[in-house]
Amino acid sequence: MIKYIPELTDIVLEEIPDRVSLAVEITNCQGNCPGCHSPFLKRDMGEELTPEAIDEMISSNFGVDCFLFLGEGADPDALREAALHVKTSHPGIELALYSGRENVEDWISGLFDYVKVGPYRAECGPLNERSTNQRLYHHGEDITSRFWRKNR
Ligand code: SF4
Repeated sequence: MIKYIPELTDIVLEEIPDRVSLAVEITNCQGNCPGCHSPFLKRDMGEELTPEAIDEMISSNFGVDCFLFLGEGADPDALREAALHVKTSHPGIELALYSGRENVEDWISGLFDYVKVGPYRAECGPLNERSTNQRLYHHGEDITSRFWRKNR
């Protein structure tokens, strides 16, 4: 099972370039980022991210074209099932994952259109800082530099 925090679900424009993303905060984070900005996400809290919950979120947010998992949770099989549900039931919507790990498994790279990797290190800054240690990939291509335009 993976859980999310319904109250924090939001439409975001900055996290994935050129996409209107439905961002869902996944709890039970197994990461250990040295500069963790959301320690509460490590707790076992929130509601189960069921297919019905996914359908409801997408249908009530017309216009989104990306479903963004902010975190992976602690159950890879449940993560895969949720992602596959989005892909098969909502084919016009791309899949994105923000992972706090250095690397992800091949099945994740193959399933998600966008994957962010790298633990958050406060001294390096987030994706929109050129000094960041994090990377965003789109189908295997590193597109991190697209976040840096405003900082030139
Ligand atoms: S991925 Fe890192 S920053 Fe995000 S909740 Fe987990 S430990 Fe904290």
